[in-house]
Amino acid sequence: MIMKKNKSLIIAWMYPDLMSTYGDRGNIIVLKKRCLWRDIEVVISEITLETEIKKLQQCDLLFMGGAQDRQQKIAGNDFLKRKGPVMKEMIENGTPGLFVCAAYQAVGHYYKPYQGAAIAGPGIFDLVTKHPGDQAKRLIGNVTAQLLLPSQLKGKTIVGFENHGGRTHLLEGVKPFAKVVKGFGNNGEDGTEGVVYKNAIGCYFHGPLLPKNPYVADWLIKKSLEVKYKEEVKLKELDDSLEQKAHEAIAQKILKL
Ligand code: GLN
Repeated sequence: MIMKKNKSLIIAWMYPDLMSTYGDRGNIIVLKKRCLWRDIEVVISEITLETEIKKLQQCDLLFMGGAQDRQQKIAGNDFLKRKGPVMKEMIENGTPGLFVCAAYQAVGHYYKPYQGAAIAGPGIFDLVTKHPGDQAKRLIGNVTAQLLLPSQLKGKTIVGFENHGGRTHLLEGVKPFAKVVKGFGNNGEDGTEGVVYKNAIGCYFHGPLLPKNPYVADWLIKKSLEVKYKEEVKLKELDDSLEQKAHEAIAQKILKL
């Protein structure tokens, strides 16, 4: 009898020591668990400033979390010169990724913090972010939005928490991830939240995002397997009743605000 080898995924956790504010590491835990619950072998590959590029190139799914301006500056040079260009190529070739807050800002063309020079980025996403100055209010609070992309998730709501000074503006080549229902989103003005480009998602949702919005995690897992194994993948359904309860509870709380 031929034993069918389990499918496996290597998940890149970018700069875990520098970019993991507001519990963003919880996204890594969710991706790992939802793979293991489906007998998908999973390796979390921590990619730090010192890590070899080839270790990053072996990854099937990319994750990078939020950070304060100071940490963004520390990671900035390595990301621009070394890891960023490699990730750009991977994403152009369809590798899925999730970039939260500071990471979302870092993969654009630049992030101009309120102090100091702009931090240039590899321009993976066609967008720019500017901090309007320390007099301006930070965009903080619980937030909910309705998904526009990816098409398979269109119309679903996401709930989370945002805390950013930077205001992001999308340029020509990209489309928003969601439409803000309650909260600030990209810039507190145009009602957009996040971005989707190829199989990569950028967003401002901490919380972390995935535990209360598990269908986003499943979309990333399914896409990663399909790109890796070049075949259609049907993920086993999981019992998400607890996740759904948590989602509803937060959504009610936000909409009452
Ligand atoms: N430092 C960035 C800002 O303030 C990102 C913050 C974050 O990742 N939460 O906009």
